[in-house]
Amino acid sequence: MPASPLPDRPLVLCISGHDPGGGAGIQADIEAVAAQGGRALSIITALTVQDTRDVARVDDVDARLIERQLDCLLADSRPAAIKLGLLGSADQAGVIAAAIERTGASVVIDPVLRAGGGSSLSSAATTRALLDQLFPLADVITPNAAEARILSGCGTRDAGATALLGTGCRNVLVTGGDEPGPSVENTWYRHDTEPGRYTWPRLAGGFHGAGCTLAAALAARLALGETMADALREAQRYTHAALASAVATGRGRLIPGRY
Ligand code: PLP
Repeated sequence: MPASPLPDRPLVLCISGHDPGGGAGIQADIEAVAAQGGRALSIITALTVQDTRDVARVDDVDARLIERQLDCLLADSRPAAIKLGLLGSADQAGVIAAAIERTGASVVIDPVLRAGGGSSLSSAATTRALLDQLFPLADVITPNAAEARILSGCGTRDAGATALLGTGCRNVLVTGGDEPGPSVENTWYRHDTEPGRYTWPRLAGGFHGAGCTLAAALAARLALGETMADALREAQRYTHAALASAVATGRGRLIPGRY
């Protein structure tokens, strides 16, 4: 029998919520990972009822089921990177943390607290579990400016990012798409180094799934072996291009053109 071919692309384990409209969540992850040249494995943390305008309902998946899925998957495959998006419950944090600790994968966490339409996507207990149990395991977290403020309790971007680095994560990319201004300012923070600053022209229109797209692309680029600096730059470049070719699949915000 001929030898089985090894995976042609690095595996990226995406752990995220499901958005039936395909703009955000696990579908955004799978598309963004594939577009970088990675292959996504997918575990769903929550099922949602939502459209391109807002989220109406979020039902978390049983943490025991996620634990069984992770055990089964990681006994069989070796992801080079893990991307975590929406955490469905505080109970899920422990089983995901235990799985992360068993792998040597790069870990990207996109904290998802609130939908672009304004609805809350994370309870106080779930947010606490994210901070205490998962951020210490992250190579990089990617909050937007509002999420950085909520998670850190700090008013300024610099102070907030410093507080978030204090949780144990190694890098923080604060994104500024949710702030006003003629350009989008993203800032890369790490320990003992001056922040790296990126400025992108602000594109017209509101977008749904931009954060998921960026974080999944970043995880895939780390899985491909890029340095953090290269992966951050290329994931932002890809996301900007995806937003520049976004489409209206519904009556609300635009969906990134990830293909
Ligand atoms: N639904 C799911 C499952 C998500 O993961 C996210 C964001 O990550 C959202 C909804 C909200 O996306 P947005 O803030 O881009 O509308």
